[in-house]
Amino acid sequence: MFKSLLGRLGADIGVDLGTANTLVHVQGRGIVVREPSVIATSADGQVLAVGESAKRMIGRTPADITATRPLRGGVIADFEITTSMLSYFLKKAVPGRSTLRPRVVVGIPSGATLVEKRALIEATLRAGARDAYLIEEPLAAALGVGLPVAEPIASMVVDIGGGRTQVAVITLGGIVTCRSIRTAGDDIDEAIMAYARRAYNLMIGERTAEEAKIALGSAYPSEGEDPSLPVRGRDLVSGLPRTLRLTAGEIREALTEPLQAIVGAVKQTLEETPPELAADLVGRGLILVGGGALLRGIDRLLVEVTGMQVRLSDDPLTAVALGTGMAFEGIDAKKAVITSKNL
Ligand code: ADP
Ligand code: MG
Repeated sequence: MFKSLLGRLGADIGVDLGTANTLVHVQGRGIVVREPSVIATSADGQVLAVGESAKRMIGRTPADITATRPLRGGVIADFEITTSMLSYFLKKAVPGRSTLRPRVVVGIPSGATLVEKRALIEATLRAGARDAYLIEEPLAAALGVGLPVAEPIASMVVDIGGGRTQVAVITLGGIVTCRSIRTAGDDIDEAIMAYARRAYNLMIGERTAEEAKIALGSAYPSEGEDPSLPVRGRDLVSGLPRTLRLTAGEIREALTEPLQAIVGAVKQTLEETPPELAADLVGRGLILVGGGALLRGIDRLLVEVTGMQVRLSDDPLTAVALGTGMAFEGIDAKKAVITSKNL
């Protein structure tokens, strides 16, 4: 009974507001919202669809409808639209009326500027939070996958999202060294689009490129035959629709550049890690999270270039969201290292 009373008094909510996907965790209930960070609006600003149904509209909208991804590189690109989207997801997570608005912890990329942090706090408050807190995403991911974040032991997290790749070494509740680059899943999709254009004069859409990546993309050659799949687009010369067969080998070749940037970020972070902590990492390896971690062979590629053990988290897409939920323990214990409020 006490718990249901508390529930009515205002929930504790953790949000992973990603460039590609938004997840909402409600204390005691787990992850209750898991949708693409996309919103479709009409010319007069009315919200027509949010999440999965809005994502299906990307590249297919008539002139008076826009399907927008309001975050870029992990930070807010369109404040009003982000606020509407967040407000929709928070309402979806705690439907009905509660007497008190929720406390909300939101993940933010490490390396975000003060202005970006303030915008996120402001958007969260306007979307209906009573209190808004931020947690750096690599820290949230580390908490979410159960690493010993608060202890004097170094852990390394590599989060490959849609708009950003973050590499961080964490110990004693804080980030020691970190690289946060704007090369991630979206750039991998763009590399596939650029390849089809360059090699075959075929213009393909964002969603088609993402589907090809998920179906056939890889970061490391695999043995056996080279599978292929049909990809549809518009021929740049004739202007007509055309289908092309792309092979896994071609897609891997197309991914060279973004993959090099991601691998480079991991190497640079290791180079900047103090020796005692680097020694911990030799024994403990690194853990991969984020949707980009699902790219075939990315673990093998990282093993090859770093010589370290690489572990793929059990559910890479939920790590940050679970961690934002766990961050409330840090707030309640007044451990300022974990979160920041009211910047
Ligand atoms: P964000 O935190 O930026 O919202 P996510 O961690 O949700 O990003 O990951 C989204 C990215 O992961 C997208 O670029 C998506 O294409 C990519 N992704 C999802 N599943 C796979 C897969 N099976 N293989 C390769 N990439 C994937
Ligand atoms: Mg993310």
